[in-house]
Amino acid sequence: MQADYHIHTFLCKHAEGELSEYVDAAREKRLPEMCVTDHAPDPGGYDAEHRMEIDQFPQYTELISEFHDNGNPTVLYGIEADYYEGCEQFLGKWLVGQKFDLVIGSIHYIRNWGFDNPEERNIWDSVNIINTWREYFELVGRLADTRLYDVVAHLDLPKKFGYRPTERDLKEMAQPTLDHIVAAGMGIEINTSGLRKPVKEIYPSPMLLELAREREIPICFGSDAHAPHEVAYAFDKAVKLARQAGYTHCLRFRQRKKEFIPLS
Ligand code: ZN
Ligand code: FE
Ligand code: FE
Repeated sequence: MQADYHIHTFLCKHAEGELSEYVDAAREKRLPEMCVTDHAPDPGGYDAEHRMEIDQFPQYTELISEFHDNGNPTVLYGIEADYYEGCEQFLGKWLVGQKFDLVIGSIHYIRNWGFDNPEERNIWDSVNIINTWREYFELVGRLADTRLYDVVAHLDLPKKFGYRPTERDLKEMAQPTLDHIVAAGMGIEINTSGLRKPVKEIYPSPMLLELAREREIPICFGSDAHAPHEVAYAFDKAVKLARQAGYTHCLRFRQRKKEFIPLS
């Protein structure tokens, strides 16, 4: 079984259950390790309704440290931090000041539009889909350029509700972004939460994962669990997808240092 490197907690205001229940679920599914990666706080008030407050951050650290000597599974200390224009002002200093094992970088907004938020889904009907995706991939490229993050989250998140460009357009717009990811020495995650969304597909798509494989961009696995039963959700499908793309190894993180381990 693969490690689950993308797990949320109740502190983000939209996940359920106690961390102990997530750890129990990981143990039952025989995961060697799991990394808690809740949405990072933002003192500037960015997307405040989907993340912990900055003064709750010590509670987050404390929560995870309770499982420090757990052993089975090993519980790692991570964070999912959004990239947005100007985020470096806070994140640039803050991220390096923490003892994270893993920092996941995400794009959830295009300008002021939470494009993956179900409450803002109808906006998709009034935008130009190709241009929207282009803008998205440009943002992911800039995320990589900051060198603040270890892994790109849900690489093709804009497909969540099924609005997507043709494979040809997607390929053309994603390649430069993948090159930025390579230049940054970053990995990407195979995120199974897409299977639980209207698109019913893992992030990223098989075609994008193959482009990543061609560039030797390393991978890890994440369920993006917001409830204990979602831990390691559909990881059998995720591993199959990785193998089909030609991957034989995945990433393991400790204190933001990467190692490669064979897919099991
Ligand atoms: Zn979330
Ligand atoms: Fe996310
Ligand atoms: Fe997430």
